[in-house]
Amino acid sequence: MIIQPAPKQGVLDRRAAIVAQLRALLADDAVIDQPLLLKPYETDGLSAYRQPPLAVVLPADTAEVVAVMRLCHREGVRVVPRGAGTSLSGGALPMADAVVIGMMRMNSIPDINYADRYAVVGPGVTNIAITEAVSGRGFFYAPDPSSQLACMIGGNVGMNSGGAHCLKYGVTANNLLGLTVVMADGEVVKLGGTHLDAAGYDWLGLLTGSEGQLGIVTEVIVRILRGPEGARAMLAAFAANEVAGACVDAIIGSGIIPVALEFMDRPAIHACEAFAHAGYPLDAEAMLIIEVEGSVAEQDALLARIRDICMANGATSLKVSSSAAESAAIWKGRKGAFGAVGRISPDYLCMDGTIPTSRLADVLRRIGDMSTSYGLQVANIFHAGDGNLHPLIMFDANDPESLTKAERFGAEILTLCVEVGGCLTGEHGVGVEKRDLMGVQFSAVELDQQRRIKTAFDPDWLLNPAKVFPLTA
Ligand SMILES: Cc1cc2nc3c(=O)[nH]c(=O)nc-3n(C[C@H](O)[C@H](O)[C@H](O)COP(=O)(O)OP(=O)(O)OC[C@H]3O[C@@H](n4cnc5c(N)ncnc54)[C@H](O)[C@@H]3O)c2cc1C
Repeated sequence: MIIQPAPKQGVLDRRAAIVAQLRALLADDAVIDQPLLLKPYETDGLSAYRQPPLAVVLPADTAEVVAVMRLCHREGVRVVPRGAGTSLSGGALPMADAVVIGMMRMNSIPDINYADRYAVVGPGVTNIAITEAVSGRGFFYAPDPSSQLACMIGGNVGMNSGGAHCLKYGVTANNLLGLTVVMADGEVVKLGGTHLDAAGYDWLGLLTGSEGQLGIVTEVIVRILRGPEGARAMLAAFAANEVAGACVDAIIGSGIIPVALEFMDRPAIHACEAFAHAGYPLDAEAMLIIEVEGSVAEQDALLARIRDICMANGATSLKVSSSAAESAAIWKGRKGAFGAVGRISPDYLCMDGTIPTSRLADVLRRIGDMSTSYGLQVANIFHAGDGNLHPLIMFDANDPESLTKAERFGAEILTLCVEVGGCLTGEHGVGVEKRDLMGVQFSAVELDQQRRIKTAFDPDWLLNPAKVFPLTA
């Protein structure tokens, strides 16, 4: 995707000078500039785009991040923060003249406080590692992106990430208490704390989902929750996507909030069942995974109500998991869904629009129509309960025409999401993928106000500058 003319001598000299200064600040193995070793960093989850950076640094603590930021500020060098690089919107995509700050070495959990229900964690701690650290005492960290084995809490803050269980527990923003942030000029600020809410402006809210554009997060205080008494998942099969979509609307409209309410269509069901062996209904056109939690009596009561709603709304079969192993297989299939689709298509683009659940049936039908007119297959796997769509548009990156078509198709879906009262992104962020569509969602005045916020934090636009905002207008 990226055409790279050979850099001029002046550029090479400047690069060498920056790398030499970085080496003076950090341990030898914490500065990477050899082309082969830069390879793993040149792309992220949006793998159709690639760009080797100037260098990668791997600081070990806040003080080292401060030192790097001071240097980059003084020298006018751009900086791209990076967690695990699983962003599906190209949020961690490097720039040729930028230093990538990789956070993976800042992966300690210095404090867990069960009495006050919080944990203090480094930005490089993986999402799953937080729950693993507290599960022995019956606690968990609620937001659970499907990438949770790999993605890091700093990246989750960067993207305000969600997951299957965020329907009940909220996304990252709803589960954060405090942040330590290194600003563009190397100053350190602490936002929030171990307490609920904070005086003054909601900085925590502003930083969450800011895609590495306002500061580098070097410590995160997350809320941890007591786990439920138990949970059970149910599968409901349908003869058409639209019917399953209307059923989601009926469940949510009834006032029931399951802990998770996920959608899969036929291509997704088949791809996931092939590796998870979860007992997904292979004869269905669409399927819902509905999970409830609480005491056995609470689970039974909720499942009975949901079963009635499903039957009244066209379900062709229902199956309640009867054991923890069966529930685990159901979630293994769902959480591995993107990888499973990777097995049936050389490449895919994952869209992330959000719509009101009352528009699900209509929007799913229109995505089906678009799939026919673009001649590209789609697999729909998404967080249906909060209307967060993930159409995976399958294409072949070796065929440039196929990528262009997939991008147009994706833009049409996201524009439709905005038209029906939704938005461009539910959890994956804007990145490079959706930056040119921001004008569909926001007026010129609104975009200008947002740029002013960026400028107030980062006057020289050094922090991850090529993301979020359209390059023109
Ligand atoms: C298979 C798969 C499934 C996925 N499922 C989900 C899902 O269910 N829900 C969901 O929300 N997302 C999902 N994602 C997307 C992705 O995993 C999330 O966006 C995740 O939060 C990114 O974390 P990361 O550590 O990989 O961050 P990166 O991709 O490295 O970075 C993400 C953004 O955060 C910024 N950033 C990273 N670290 C810091 C820091 N310390 N300080 C400041 N900015 C920082 C980066 O600059 C970038 O803009 C999925 C991705 C894949 C590949």
